Amino acid sequence: MTCITFLGSCATQTAEQDTVSFVISCDNINLLVDTGPNVVKRLYQVGLSPANISAVIVTHKHGDHALGFPYFIFMRGLEKILYNTKLKSLIVITPSNLSSELFKIFNIYYTMELPFSINTIEIDSTNSVSLDKMKLTFFYVHHTVPTIGFVLNYKDKKIVYSSDTISFKQMVNYADNADVLIHSVLGVKEKTLSKITKIALADEVAKIAQNANVKQLIIVHFLPTYIGKEDIIKSVIRKYYDGKIVIPKPGDKIIL
Ligand SMILES: [Zn+2]
Repeated sequence: MTCITFLGSCATQTAEQDTVSFVISCDNINLLVDTGPNVVKRLYQVGLSPANISAVIVTHKHGDHALGFPYFIFMRGLEKILYNTKLKSLIVITPSNLSSELFKIFNIYYTMELPFSINTIEIDSTNSVSLDKMKLTFFYVHHTVPTIGFVLNYKDKKIVYSSDTISFKQMVNYADNADVLIHSVLGVKEKTLSKITKIALADEVAKIAQNANVKQLIIVHFLPTYIGKEDIIKSVIRKYYDGKIVIPKPGDKIIL
């Protein structure tokens, strides 16, 4: 069984929503994807903790994806000290040069010697990483800073994450026949903001999902003005895409 647990799916924090982050769980692996400012609290809220996480991907350096990283690392170590929790080593996957930058920031705030080992992997052009039986293939997307997306294959399931990006042709190939495509969508008509932030709009992503024959399209990174009005995004996507559309809330799980 594969489970995706959403910690947040919005572009910003609000009372009811949070920045984009989720955990993909298969057998013994909990893979945390992106670490916004609230990531530790959101993990506890869904019954997980930093100690349960075996690998983390920080897709790019923007604060809504990376600011919670130093505190996540600190709390993983603190769990050992407070509760004597057994800790496995941690795999950290980032674009080129980002993991060293993140640990520089960690070392500004914390002086503790970590009670677990860390294996950092920085992605250059394309790169594959195996975590147990989970196979990850990374690719660079088109955002305002170097940003990685990935294809995850586990048994007969395929999950694809775009991270923050404008729509681009090659995504149809990456997402080809995916069980799940998790794609950033800013909104439905914010053309100028979409150009400035380099994050796609709903109709563009719907066409990618349709052309790639994706079974389930999960929308993340929408503007907070769409909270409670998610149906506006769904109705635009429905014009171009006939598969399942999901806009998750924190705590929502997708079981595959
Ligand atoms: Zn971003």
